Amino acid sequence: MVDNNAAMKRAGATRDEDSPEEAAFRVEARAFFESVSVRRTDDDETGNYFAMADNDPGTHARHVARCKDSQRLIYENGWAGITVPTEYGGRGGAAWQERVFRQEQARFTVDTGLFAVSLGMVVPTLLVHGTEAQKQRYILPMLRGEEIWCQLFSEPGAGSDLAGLSTRAIRDGDEWVVNGQKVWNSGAHHADFGILVARTDVEVPKHRGITYFLLDMHTPGVDVRPLRQATGVAHFNEVFLTDVHIPHENVLGEVGGGWGVAQTTLMNERNMIGSGGMGIGFGDYLRMARDLGVTEDPQIRQALAACFVRTEVIKYLGARAQAAVRAGKQPGPETSVVKLNASLHSALNGDLGLLIQGAGGMLTGSDAYRRGMFQQMFVGQWGMRIGGGTEQIQRNVIGERVLGLPGEARPDKTLPFKDIPKNG
Ligand SMILES: Cc1cc2nc3c(=O)[nH]c(=O)nc-3n(C[C@H](O)[C@H](O)[C@H](O)COP(=O)(O)OP(=O)(O)OC[C@H]3O[C@@H](n4cnc5c(N)ncnc54)[C@H](O)[C@@H]3O)c2cc1C
Repeated sequence: MVDNNAAMKRAGATRDEDSPEEAAFRVEARAFFESVSVRRTDDDETGNYFAMADNDPGTHARHVARCKDSQRLIYENGWAGITVPTEYGGRGGAAWQERVFRQEQARFTVDTGLFAVSLGMVVPTLLVHGTEAQKQRYILPMLRGEEIWCQLFSEPGAGSDLAGLSTRAIRDGDEWVVNGQKVWNSGAHHADFGILVARTDVEVPKHRGITYFLLDMHTPGVDVRPLRQATGVAHFNEVFLTDVHIPHENVLGEVGGGWGVAQTTLMNERNMIGSGGMGIGFGDYLRMARDLGVTEDPQIRQALAACFVRTEVIKYLGARAQAAVRAGKQPGPETSVVKLNASLHSALNGDLGLLIQGAGGMLTGSDAYRRGMFQQMFVGQWGMRIGGGTEQIQRNVIGERVLGLPGEARPDKTLPFKDIPKNG
């Protein structure tokens, strides 16, 4: 009997950890990508977009167009929204299929990075909390690559303590009028819509007075201002909201029930960040060590081995979280374990990238190995470690909700929001 699985492994099409079902799906997904695109190389703009400190508007415009085209291509070939029910335009498939598909996508020049918030966070939240009309209106344009979404949660005074947010939404007939400021909003300068949390009741404790809105970013009063990061790239923004009118039908979930809706978004975000990594894998570090002739260095060998072990542990942690989803559960607090490990991995990999290069690690741009991509990863690691909830906050969640340790003292949890002492 011919062992198809072994033959596919030899051909490099499958992975050791694949079940026969996963292996077959991987071959199918790879055949799709091979038919519509080419494999990534060191020099293609797709692979290097996030690694380059390039703020040229043309580069950004090409990135937006490329992401939209790629997502449309995926949709037109029947691969979009793998876990999304067919009635909303998806494939009605399983979470493991989504994971295998993404792993294969990462090898090819089919870049859908700008749809990460839309597909990884907004669609799952709409599926759980949306009305039928909201699901019908918003999901399909995301799957087709037509509408990009951003997340408008953090504020200058509310990041880790998101429930302390003070952007205010006041009801006016069939509309809500919103005033306030959001910050660190990834991709908001390219977005058509935003998921927004705002305070609708100051008389109740802070977690209970929040409402979740679907905001059209083209509404008058929405002012998006890009912020330049340490890497030199303006990837995220400040968003000022001045007398922004949102129709009542754009409330997601119940008025005052926004905190619960936001939890669905945040758990999906942690899961996405934890399982996505930073785009550079163990193979890139090993190759760099070989290219630079340092594989005999005992310190580098140890650091590479540790990197390999971390990579494997994170892979299986991710698979565990996916298995919970496969069993019909929502991602839970264990996603904090995935996010924390992915965070620490990116920090240690930042060091590893510079260790391997030695003095060459001080170079940048075209003078540096692979155009300074590893230097950019080093400087950019803090984005990964803060975004989606900082390491300290993940540790708090793990302590309290996974290990059942006593909670932090939070005297402001039960006070009406208006009575909580605030700065200035
Ligand atoms: C790359 C990136 C992308 C982002 N994208 C978005 C986005 O698209 N949309 C959006 O809304 N937001 C986004 N954010 C914002 C992100 O969610 C916040 O930065 C994060 O929640 C931390 O909030 P903060 O920056 O206000 O820090 P703070 O909450 O002020 O924290 C400052 C420090 O205090 C520590 N700390 C705070 N509270 C505690 C506590 N209780 N116990 C222990 N330590 C504590 C923190 O760990 C941190 O070290 C992004 C951030 C980054 C870096």
